[in-house]
Amino acid sequence: METRPQPTAERPLKALRPNQTNCDEKDEKGRPCWGPLKVWHTAPVEIRQKAPEGMVLYRCQACLTIYYGPPRELPLRRVPRRVSILGW
Ligand SMILES: [Zn+2]
Repeated sequence: METRPQPTAERPLKALRPNQTNCDEKDEKGRPCWGPLKVWHTAPVEIRQKAPEGMVLYRCQACLTIYYGPPRELPLRRVPRRVSILGW
């Protein structure tokens, strides 16, 4: 039995806790997801509008739960040069 992620537009946004870098959304059995959260630069406008002004959207790479939080809350991945913040 697999549970399919619901359409993201119907999910409420979760507020990111300070220094939170992994998803803590619990599944039906109460186990946290712990998927990595990544800045979601390509979020649709209607979802972006749900986040408070000045907040950045993050999305769990595992269950696609959407979070919002202040910019640069997550530690940036260290890339020697040509850092892409666009997630390319
Ligand atoms: Zn997750």
